[in-house]
This record gives sequence, C-alpha cells and structure tokens, in this order.
Amino acid sequence: MDRALVGRTPGGRTTGGRTPGGRTTAGSAFVGVRGGVGSLPRALADLLRARGVTIRTGTIARELRRGDDGRWVVLVGPTIAVEEIVADSVVLALPTAPTARLLRPHARDAAEALAGVETASMAIVTLAVDAAALGELPGSGFLVPPVEGWTIKASTFSSTKWGWLEAAGRGTAYLRASIGRAGEAAVLQRPDAELVEVAVAEIGRAIGRPLPPILDRHVQRWGGALPQYAVGHADRIDVVRASVARLPGVEVAGATYEGVGIPAVVRTGRAAAAATLDHLTQAAR
Ligand SMILES: Cc1cc2nc3c(=O)[nH]c(=O)nc-3n(C[C@H](O)[C@H](O)[C@H](O)COP(=O)(O)OP(=O)(O)OC[C@H]3O[C@@H](n4cnc5c(N)ncnc54)[C@H](O)[C@@H]3O)c2cc1C
Repeated sequence: MDRALVGRTPGGRTTGGRTPGGRTTAGSAFVGVRGGVGSLPRALADLLRARGVTIRTGTIARELRRGDDGRWVVLVGPTIAVEEIVADSVVLALPTAPTARLLRPHARDAAEALAGVETASMAIVTLAVDAAALGELPGSGFLVPPVEGWTIKASTFSSTKWGWLEAAGRGTAYLRASIGRAGEAAVLQRPDAELVEVAVAEIGRAIGRPLPPILDRHVQRWGGALPQYAVGHADRIDVVRASVARLPGVEVAGATYEGVGIPAVVRTGRAAAAATLDHLTQAAR
C-alpha cells in the first residue's frame, strides 16, 4: 500500500504529504495500491485461476433462465453463437441496466426499481508532461464546483498524489482531469482531442500557469458508470433486495446498491459471496 500526499485544509494547512525527497509524512490523506487499483482485480484473477477457477472476460450475459431442475441457465456470448452455462448459483455484479434486463423475467419488481436508477457518464483525460518543466504543484489536485461553469469537474495531480507513480514516471509526470457531471451528457459528445484541449487549458488556469508541452495523452470514457443516488434510492434498493430474495441462488452486488465507492462495492461483493455459500451449502444437504 502506498500512503501518498496530500490534502490541504481550507486554511491552506497541509494535512500530510511527501517530503522533497519523496518520502511520505504521517497523516497522509490517501491510501492506494502500488501499481494502481487496477492491479487488484488482476491479482485476484491470478489467485483464483491458480486455484482452478475459470474466469471468462469479454463475455456478455444475455439472458437468465430457470432450468426445469431449478438451476439457473445463463445465456452468454454473441447472438450468432449463444452458449448456455448451467449454474447452481448466480451473482449479478453488473451495472444497473443489464442487471434489470436479466432479472426482468423472474423479478419484475426488482427490474422496475432498477430501471428507475439513473447513471452518469464520465471521461478521464490523462496527460503526461515533463516533470521538471511542470515544477511543484500545490496539493494533490482540485475539485471544480458546478457554479464555476468549467468543463472539467476535477483534476488529480497523479504523480504528486501517488509516490509509486512518481517513481515509475522517471521524470515524466502525470495529471488527470475528469469531465462529465450527472445530467450533462452533451459535453462528452465532444471528440477526444477537444476534451484534451479543454483539460490542458483549465488545469493551467487552476494552477496559474500553462502546462508544459503534452508528451502523451489518453482519454478513457466511462459510459453510464456512476449510478445516481436520488432521493428514495434506499427504498428502491429495498424493493430490489426483497424481490431478488425470492429467487433462490441469485444475488446482486455492485455500485448500484450501498454506495459507489470501492469499499462499499467490495462490501456488497462479500455479502453476495457469503449468501451464495449459504445457498450452496443448504442445497448440498
Ligand atoms: C472514472 C471513475 C473514477 C472513480 N474513482 C473512484 C475512486 O477514486 N474511489 C472509489 O472508491 N471509487 C471510485 N469510482 C467508483 C468505483 O470505481 C465504481 O463504483 C466501482 O468500481 C463499480 O464496481 P462494480 O463492480 O459495481 O461495477 P464495474 O466495475 O463497472 O463492473 C461491472 C462489470 O460488468 C460488466 N458487464 C456489463 N454488462 C455485462 C453483461 N451483460 N454481461 C457480462 N458482464 C457485463 C462490465 O464490463 C464490468 O466489467 C470511480 C468510478 C469511475 C467511473
């Protein structure tokens, strides 16, 4: 784990951070995974495969059917080559829309409650610049309140925030900007090059000087990635849970239910795994 810079209190006091030599001080605001949080699912997949688990990625679950023997049949793959997977238990750890689609024939209440959950899309623009030319940055990034009318809604000074990234960059620094607020999908219809341009301009504006030449850039779009917790969300999720509870061997997990942050998502995954184990244990008796 990597404790990293930074966090400034509203009064400008640093709450923790990295010394000029790159060491972190006690009380850092952020904790991450060295190599990035994306290394976590990869490590988990390696561990599971080593224990004989088959993992199939890039495979769309199209339909969920109930077999005559009470087991579940998941229809997967492209429409021209649909394959049936028979399962004693199924965990739907999917975004809201496909979960609703798969549940609809079996749990109409759940499907309808899920259909009422709106989602927001985002794009993350990552920029690479020469670290020496960039110089010191104040803090680890910033948030832009909607009233400012800017296009970017936040920026992370990634190499300042994460010590492992600063080291891996070997003189190249990385910054990110996120674009796309709930209900403002139009901005994401702009081409990648325009998103990069506006990110460069607005980060420069925020730090009070233009960014040095951009050595490389990447735009990652996350369509419908963030469920919106509108008023009444908890009631809606109660309906989903009650409806799914009537389907033996089916569980749901993910960002739609108890919070969008990774810790909350992991909690739903653990709960689904425990319920699945219970179901399988009882079925084996
Ligand atoms: C840009 C961005 C930045 C974020 N930053 C943070 C952060 O700093 N800290 C934090 O705590 N949280 C953060 N979050 C939130 C958090 O990452 C997500 O809420 C969480 O990862 C969602 O996990 P999930 O398992 O519910 O969904 P996902 O990780 O989206 O997994 C759902 C999976 O289902 C697959 N799928 C979809 N349809 C089907 C289908 N029909 N059949 C089979 N598979 C299907 C998808 O391909 C995907 O792999 C961020 C989110 C975004 C978008």
